[in-house]
Order: sequence, then C-alpha cells, then structure tokens
Amino acid sequence: MKDSNCIFCKIANGEIPSYTIYEDNMFRVIFDLGPASKGHALVLPKEHFKNIFSLSDEYAAKALIIAKKVVTAMTEELECDGFNILQNNEEIAGQTVFHFHIHLIPRYKGDDVKLTWNPTELDKSTAEQTAKKISERIKK
Ligand code: AMP
Ligand code: ZN
Repeated sequence: MKDSNCIFCKIANGEIPSYTIYEDNMFRVIFDLGPASKGHALVLPKEHFKNIFSLSDEYAAKALIIAKKVVTAMTEELECDGFNILQNNEEIAGQTVFHFHIHLIPRYKGDDVKLTWNPTELDKSTAEQTAKKISERIKK
C-alpha cells in the first residue's frame, strides 16, 4: 500500500525526483537532503510502513541485505572509515518522517557526527525478570 500524503512514498516510487543510489522492485536508496556526513543515505521501501512496528517481515528481511550491499559499495567509493546504521521509531526517538527508513551514515576519521548517549548501569534487580517477560511475549 502507498500513502498518497507521504513524501517518502512519492520519492520511493519515483514520483518525486531524488539522488538514487540503488533501486529494485521493493526499495529505493537515496541521498539524504540534510546529510550528517558526505554520502548519508536512506533506504526507503516502496510500500508505506509508518515505522518498524508495522514493517512486514518480507521488507524487514530484505532491508538489511540492501543496507549491506550499499554500505559496501559506498565504503569503496567514498573511502569512508566506518558506518553507522540508524533507524528511528516514533517522535521520542527522533523520527520526523513517518515512512520507515534506515539511515546509512558514512563515518570519516575526525568528522563531527554525534550519535552518543551517556551509559548508565543495568538494573540487575529487575533484568532477569524483564528479560523473561519480553521473551514470553516474543514467543506468543
Ligand atoms: P528521521 O528523522 O529518522 O525521520 O529522518 C528523516 C530524514 O529524512 C532526515 O535525515 C531528513 O534530512 C531526510 N529528508 C527529509 N525530507 C527529505 C527529502 N525530500 N529527500 C531526502 N531526504 C529527506
Ligand atoms: Zn509512505
């Protein structure tokens, strides 16, 4: 399904032009218009999924294979030193465009990209119980 009000549906399906790095029948990979670093790209499914919670297993499985192909080629071409692969879900997590996408962010020695947090300490008093409860939900 496409969403006629969604800009990434339009870009992914070629109705709005983009700088396309890769395309197949399910995905388009484009350059981000506000790049964190040179080569910052977005993996866009051609079907509309708001974010990971509604993403189909078929698209989920293929998305990482495409990310792998693209970062490999980009590393050779751009001679970057590493990659961050990032995917935001919901506003609190930084999602601003509500069509599933994966960020591919090339990293260069000495760059100014910041994707950091302050590590805290795992709460060991609840960790085992919480892990078990989540595990049970996965099996449902
Ligand atoms: P997020 O904050 O994870 O939802 O990421 C949205 C990303 O889409 C941002 O990095 C924007 O710079 C990028 N973006 C928004 N509109 C466009 C567009 N028309 N073409 C390419 N990238 C876009
Ligand atoms: Zn969409």
